[in-house]
Amino acid sequence: MDFLSIPTEDKQRALTELREIKDLFAARNWFPGTSGNLSIRVGDYEPDSFHFAITASGKDKSVHTPEDFLFVDQDGKPCETTRLKPSAETLIHCELYRLTGCGAIFHTHTVFNNVVSEWFWERGSIPVEGVELIKAFNIWDEEAHIDIPVIPNYADIPKIVPEVTKRFDPRVPGIMLRKHGIYAWGANAFEAKRHLEAFEFLFEYVYRWELLKQSKASI
Ligand SMILES: [Zn+2]
Repeated sequence: MDFLSIPTEDKQRALTELREIKDLFAARNWFPGTSGNLSIRVGDYEPDSFHFAITASGKDKSVHTPEDFLFVDQDGKPCETTRLKPSAETLIHCELYRLTGCGAIFHTHTVFNNVVSEWFWERGSIPVEGVELIKAFNIWDEEAHIDIPVIPNYADIPKIVPEVTKRFDPRVPGIMLRKHGIYAWGANAFEAKRHLEAFEFLFEYVYRWELLKQSKASI
């Protein structure tokens, strides 16, 4: 499907949803220093042919401007004439859409996700054991255990892409870049938001639990 044959209203809907999510996450201070990015896919999907709307690079996400979003293709190239540059991390979105066929991907930098990614760096993943909110990922086992993959954070984004491919786990809808931030995805914006919120809850839980364990051990 080429970009021009995607109905305008579908594109408008994606931009409206992105704006709502952007407002909500900005209010939570989830985009410090213009960091973070959001994308929503539009139109038909094939692993080697798709389009999505994504936040433009380097913009303050706490304000609305005509320069907040643009549409790109499966290679991260703009679909329309624009002066905007897609987020530097667009290639990670491209790879996650290719791997999952999902409908939305949200990425945030928070203190909790950064700290736990470093704490468990050598382990290669962040373990979470038996916490109720694991159910947000549609994992219903009692006392479920998940490992959230942690991958290296290279300055050269194309170098990160094969790490995403290698560590992608279809059971866990998120991947953590070391001391950088979480990428969470879902079938649509609603699901991607639910997943991201669950990850952030679990990161804070893990952080606080590890701290309690340490202080108990030192008594
Ligand atoms: Zn980032």
